Amino acid sequence: MDYIWTPWRYQYMKEAASGNQPECIFCEAAARENDAETLIVHRGEKTFVILNRFPYTSGHVMIVPYAHVAELNLCESGTLDEMMQLAQRVETALRWLGTCVCTCCHAGSAIPTS
Ligand SMILES: [Zn+2]
Repeated sequence: MDYIWTPWRYQYMKEAASGNQPECIFCEAAARENDAETLIVHRGEKTFVILNRFPYTSGHVMIVPYAHVAELNLCESGTLDEMMQLAQRVETALRWLGTCVCTCCHAGSAIPTS
């Protein structure tokens, strides 16, 4: 079995364990206005694209619905449409960099697409 060694995620794990994290990091980021600070790189009508502050690999981005849902099957069809359209755009951009593409719900589950 191979393991991804990501020691830079220790800061996130430490903060999460301390209980000093917002209830939902995605809702909190979406509500803030400073996209550079929250690492939001695109805002759509129903979803937004955010860089992972503690990525597993370089170029790790998430496409997140504004709706606070924990599973893709709880998203409205318009939200899913926009997620997939943005996933295509992100995938195209990231393929130039040779990195992976993931979609994500607020629960933090990720579905690698490549
Ligand atoms: Zn949320």
